[in-house]
Amino acid sequence: MVIYDVIIIGSGLGGLETAAVLGKKGFRVLVLEKNPQAGGALQSFVVNGCTFSAGMHYVGAIGKGSVLQKFFSYLGIYDDIELQPLDAEAYERFFIDGKEYRYPVGYNAFQEMLVSLFPREEKAVNAFVNKVKEVAAYQDIYNLRTPVNNNLFNNPYFKTGLCDYIETLTGNKELQKLLAAPNFVHAGEKESTPLYTHALILDHYLQGAYRFGKGSGQLVQLLKKVINDQGGTILTNSRVTSVTMTEKEIKQVVTESGEHFFAKNVISNVHPAATLDFLDNSLLKPVYIKRIKSLENSLSPFSLFITLKKGVLPYENYNRHYFLEDNVWPASRYNKEKWPQYFFVHHYVPDGGKYSKCISVITYMKYEEVLPFAGSDNGNVKAEYKEWKKRKAEKLLQRVMEKYPALKDAIETYNVATPLTFKRYLGSPTGSMYGIKRDFRNANYSNILPVTRIPGFYFTGQNINLHGMMGVTLSSLVTLGFFMDINQLIEEINEAS
Ligand SMILES: Cc1cc2nc3c(=O)[nH]c(=O)nc-3n(C[C@H](O)[C@H](O)[C@H](O)COP(=O)(O)OP(=O)(O)OC[C@H]3O[C@@H](n4cnc5c(N)ncnc54)[C@H](O)[C@@H]3O)c2cc1C
Repeated sequence: MVIYDVIIIGSGLGGLETAAVLGKKGFRVLVLEKNPQAGGALQSFVVNGCTFSAGMHYVGAIGKGSVLQKFFSYLGIYDDIELQPLDAEAYERFFIDGKEYRYPVGYNAFQEMLVSLFPREEKAVNAFVNKVKEVAAYQDIYNLRTPVNNNLFNNPYFKTGLCDYIETLTGNKELQKLLAAPNFVHAGEKESTPLYTHALILDHYLQGAYRFGKGSGQLVQLLKKVINDQGGTILTNSRVTSVTMTEKEIKQVVTESGEHFFAKNVISNVHPAATLDFLDNSLLKPVYIKRIKSLENSLSPFSLFITLKKGVLPYENYNRHYFLEDNVWPASRYNKEKWPQYFFVHHYVPDGGKYSKCISVITYMKYEEVLPFAGSDNGNVKAEYKEWKKRKAEKLLQRVMEKYPALKDAIETYNVATPLTFKRYLGSPTGSMYGIKRDFRNANYSNILPVTRIPGFYFTGQNINLHGMMGVTLSSLVTLGFFMDINQLIEEINEAS
């Protein structure tokens, strides 16, 4: 009987990163993935010759000297990642109340942009910029320092509300909106989002925002190669259906096809609530189970993957964010009747030339809206679901074309992904975009630790600490700290270049 050192359930970014580092450190690892392809939301797929990213569109803190550059250099793959820097003068373009605002890369440029738009609010702008720097500087792992302040339980910025904080700085509504505008990247909610989430994500994009040259799936291939080269194994089409304990705390992991695997340790990269569906819960406290099961998730995405006619839509090296109402908190003010209240347009880097071959448009949707279609994959429900998807997609497209008329004559085909698609594909309870919703009002409740009461059973991925490429990498390092000397690992990552 083979006993692995670690079995990792799920091959999202968090699963692959932890497997790669554990492999590098000599652990014998097995990754079990339910889908035919590894990668989770990091995966890419091809339609009509266009490579789309399922969920990872643009990333920050990955340029020279950044945390992600050092981490991927440590794994020996940084130089193979094809990255395209977004427009340093305007990587984000926000359309709010009919006006366009541009976020540039770099703290100085960001501060100057804000002061030039709001000269009377210089004090508020400076305070905001300094606070974002302060929050980012506090996080030890993000700064690749010996972790002292690592636990979110002790992080004061995790217990501070983003919206409240902005409102204490200024009464200027326009400035308040502009400071809060990038909250789509964490499905921010006015009432609950911690300052921590917004500040860390803003900080990492201010270091430079990048798209993947050939879709985010290239990173899946590179991480797979690191795992395989170190003797690790990745098995796809292997949905885990049970994890139980055997004698001497060896864990038995069983897949849908009835295969049994054994390990000293198990890491779940699957949403914690979905993990409890296959984990032997008898060793967990009922109060813990209740908490995990009751946690709210961030909103889910509704995405259009659009292929374009040749040579029609000029490539845009920036993102467009449209707020269709008089507020920048669409996740808080979600209204089924008024949907879509916001959308995001992302171009994919073309192979050559100045025209885009494909774009993605993403907005929010509540999982409740797809519930009527959740039960069945066939018959009438399937037909109704198809019809409903088409109606919703066309409604969204109509709003997009009103605001972005250049798209009108450019569309060739489109595919739709709903919250149900993401739920099925990622195995999370509601197909949510960024996992468990963090709530500063009840910070400790919504903070999931990587370690559990079950010896040798851990979590990793976006539900631990933070989501996104940078957040999941932080989470991976936090989980890895239970397997090795984290100070030494951080030292080695720091030395990588
Ligand atoms: C639409 C969208 C847009 C986004 N845009 C960005 C962006 O621009 N930039 C950014 O940084 N982040 C973005 N994100 C967030 C980012 O993609 C995620 O935070 C990150 O990819 C999550 O990685 P993860 O490791 O937590 O797990 P996931 O990617 O969720 O992977 C979990 C894996 O577990 C597998 N699994 C589930 N159940 C089982 C089971 N029982 N047995 C075996 N395997 C199982 C799943 O199939 C999946 O492969 C976006 C997300 C979405 C959805």
